[in-house]
Amino acid sequence: MPRYEYRCRTCGDTFELSRPMAESSAPAACPAGHDDTVKLLSAVAVGGSAAPAQSGGGGGGGGCCGGGCCG
Ligand SMILES: [Zn+2]
Repeated sequence: MPRYEYRCRTCGDTFELSRPMAESSAPAACPAGHDDTVKLLSAVAVGGSAAPAQSGGGGGGGGCCGGGCCG
């Protein structure tokens, strides 16, 4: 299941959710319970090197590195 990153506009927290693609744009409440959140673009759009979309790639998507969770 793909993971999506969201940011809460109430408390400024960012959080990730694993949810079906069909629900990627559905409202997501932040861990503190606020529902004024926005979905962030994936790491593909962040940073300087805009690699072209992975052709084929399958559904795995991104893995860990690039999402900021690898440190
Ligand atoms: Zn919040």
